[in-house]
Amino acid sequence: AQLLDVRLVQLQRKMEQSGMGEETSYDHVLTSDYAVLLAEEFGKNPIVNDDMAFNIYPSPPHPNPTSIPLRPPVVTIMGHVDHGKTTLLDTLRSTSVAKGEAGGITQHIGAFSVPVPSEDSNGLKTITFLDTPGHAAFSAMRARGAGVTDIIVLVVAADDGIMPQTREVINLIKKEQDKVGVVVAINKVDKPGIDIEAVQKSLLAEDIQLEQYGGEVPAVFVSGKTGHGLPRLVETLSAIAEMQDLRAEHDGPVHGYILESNMHKGLGPVATVLVLRGSLKVATHIISGVSHARVRVMNDSNGTPVKIATPGMAVTVSGWKTLPSAGDDVLQGSEPDIKKAIANRQRKAEIEASLSDVEAINSSRRQEREKRELEAQGKDAERVEEEVQEGPKELRLVIKADVSGSAEAVVGALQGIGNDLAVTKVISSGVGDITEGDVTLAQAAGGMVVAFNVNASKQMQSTAAQKNVTILSSGIIYKLMDNVKEQVIKLLPVII
Ligand code: GDP
Repeated sequence: AQLLDVRLVQLQRKMEQSGMGEETSYDHVLTSDYAVLLAEEFGKNPIVNDDMAFNIYPSPPHPNPTSIPLRPPVVTIMGHVDHGKTTLLDTLRSTSVAKGEAGGITQHIGAFSVPVPSEDSNGLKTITFLDTPGHAAFSAMRARGAGVTDIIVLVVAADDGIMPQTREVINLIKKEQDKVGVVVAINKVDKPGIDIEAVQKSLLAEDIQLEQYGGEVPAVFVSGKTGHGLPRLVETLSAIAEMQDLRAEHDGPVHGYILESNMHKGLGPVATVLVLRGSLKVATHIISGVSHARVRVMNDSNGTPVKIATPGMAVTVSGWKTLPSAGDDVLQGSEPDIKKAIANRQRKAEIEASLSDVEAINSSRRQEREKRELEAQGKDAERVEEEVQEGPKELRLVIKADVSGSAEAVVGALQGIGNDLAVTKVISSGVGDITEGDVTLAQAAGGMVVAFNVNASKQMQSTAAQKNVTILSSGIIYKLMDNVKEQVIKLLPVII
């Protein structure tokens, strides 16, 4: 009653009228269906938060953690362009296919498994490599604070050394060092005239503490081209995974992520699901965003049909009613829960869409442009009118993020929030910590600085305070979106 801003008796009367009979006492717990109905009766527009139905929250501590099965580590290969990431992945994939299924056709599905030789397995059977590190889905997942990667392999070409994107990865590693393991792969060691020691020293200069020099980060010398050093790389990854002691329940509801999705001629929408918890089986009901599926066919990256996908496995899944989006969670639920959740999520999406009604913004911008053209033609008379009609108010944003992938994701999430009265506008976006230049730019534009996963030094904070510039800072995009929405709402004119 408090939420609906009515007196309790009014609510109870409405409950009676809605056919709830005797169950109208003040301590009666409403089902979500009735709650929605009642809220609508009072002219509200309720949104149901359905996450609880899908057990998205972390499970309580297990009484006997070592009884939970080990799961393969999820490994991402990152590094500067042309340093050999694709070649390395291709070689890893083809050697693993040769050892495994004969005659299998390797398919690019977003991830693949490499077997760990049993002599150094310690119970670990495979390693899962994500093969799309620069992928939008990857940035989106990271941006939401949902890191799926357990180990990052930083590839540095021995003939090229540390380059700008190498530094981006190094910054990322430093931010996530508590959560992810790191291996440096010095690549292209088959090339003549290279100086591996020089590369290692330059890594040390970037504060990557290599094992060879008394630190903790192992470096492996490899050639993606010849395959040299790859068994050593796999061995090193399995040793790190052993220390990380990665475990996941095979029972209980499935939780996973969409790595990729596309339309398939015979099968309709098909998506690669990376399973993180639970066992995905044929006929399981799953939801992802506003898409849902009853799992029809599952295949691994060799194109082999699989009946069950356990944690750490990536499989293509058909049976989707619509195409799910890369980077979204996948959750298992009962069919009725999923149907309800889809309706709620669609509704929520509609409300958000109407809030940032792009068409309204575009048309008001069009009007503005037309006015300016008229003015250019010297029609002074129009000027007076133009001064009155000035289009939407703008919340101008200067965006800084840790790496270019997440900067793009933040811009994508924050650009155009609002409606035809007030809207966000990104005036600059970049990578790295907040600088005086960013603060000055925000001040000049009358806007604010949005920082994703980057630092604002004490000094920068006081500079911003002096200049009266707000710095919004978070490592979770949704928090930034919520804060920015609040700021946009503050710009809306008060209608009395
Ligand atoms: P990516 O941009 O990091 O994915 O790099 P690619 O895998 O596309 O490799 C870039 C170039 O380096 C290609 O011409 C490869 O043939 C070459 N290359 C990759 N790995 C090696 C290697 O181990 N040795 C040599 N000599 N060349 C390599």
